[in-house]
Amino acid sequence: MKNRSAIHASQSQWANLLRQRALDLPVSHDLDKLLNRYRRHGRFYADRIGTADAWTQVRPLEKPELALIPLDPATPTREARTSGTSGLQVTIHNSRREREFRRALLYRPQIFYDLPESVTQVVFVDGRWCADPNMSPKEFTFAGRHYRTWFTGASAEPAAILNLLETLRPQLIRGIASGIVRFIGESQRSLDHIGVSIIGPGGEFLTNEWRNLMEQAFGATVLDRYGSTETGAIAWQCPHCHRYHANTDEIILEADPAGLIATPLFVSSQPLLRYRLGDIVTFDNERTDCLVQLPTITINVARRDDWIIDGAGRRISPLSFQFEQVPHLTAWRLHQLIDGSLHLFFDSDRPEIARQMLVQHLAEAVPDRPYRITRGIWKLDRPGKFKRVSSDLA
Ligand SMILES: [Zn+2]
Repeated sequence: MKNRSAIHASQSQWANLLRQRALDLPVSHDLDKLLNRYRRHGRFYADRIGTADAWTQVRPLEKPELALIPLDPATPTREARTSGTSGLQVTIHNSRREREFRRALLYRPQIFYDLPESVTQVVFVDGRWCADPNMSPKEFTFAGRHYRTWFTGASAEPAAILNLLETLRPQLIRGIASGIVRFIGESQRSLDHIGVSIIGPGGEFLTNEWRNLMEQAFGATVLDRYGSTETGAIAWQCPHCHRYHANTDEIILEADPAGLIATPLFVSSQPLLRYRLGDIVTFDNERTDCLVQLPTITINVARRDDWIIDGAGRRISPLSFQFEQVPHLTAWRLHQLIDGSLHLFFDSDRPEIARQMLVQHLAEAVPDRPYRITRGIWKLDRPGKFKRVSSDLA
């Protein structure tokens, strides 16, 4: 049991095990034994592993291959689709028990938060709908705490979100980072009268600008989370040392220079062996002096933007838009419409100067496409997660 996933223990033990294993020295996984377990799972992995006798000899599983993994017809699963922000939307299958375990892993950081026994939380999810404060919350008890949860769409009416927050006065806000940032931008006022103590954004790479904005607007501590639809919660920012502790007891992580490779040990309905997520992540060399013993990582690049297609049909990487060099530019966002034309949104304290330089940079980066430039990055009102470069063509 010691180095098997906690999912194999009884569900009432999950919180205790996840707490204890975070405090214990990390155990090493027996990779040979694991390979044999995947081999026995069926033809797909038996063929894939073949004669490999070392873990790293097994070719990483790429996104388009997910659909090839056979599912056990005896285990009912539910589908979840990724947001496609990494350029390709994929379908993930998890059994009910696996979904419940994923939730336990998602709540793991909160074991270490300074919160009361009964917690009110508001979660920003995809969509435009916002809960009414009079609606009954979703209730969940984990690690001795009772959570009452209300949801709001990340692109819901800011006035409705403000009303929800002012009425409920949640201690905790979680969810889509860009949705929280958009709400702050649109409400244009200080929000610290609400009394939020912790904001736990997730689902997107958190820039320092976004982190500062959230901290200042709410007067709250920001504790980020890092994960994916495919693997569940991977790492979480610690309230004690502020680094990102990785859930390496439940997910084997390989910080490959070509992109992070993850093997979640708690998934058996659609097992992912050496699945390539692609974000650039490194393990920290020095150990932190923290009561949580899980190793810490640094997330260097988690680009989930689209590619743009120029007038000659060439694909242009989202990394080609180095608008950061434009003086007086505070934020920008580029969208390609289905007819190929471009729409650039920006914010600036000297808009006329910024606009001129943006025109020049854009014409150089994407030749032969008509474009429009608009002030205000939230004027592009697309549901879903924030992408700095998005396209209806890609
Ligand atoms: Zn820590």
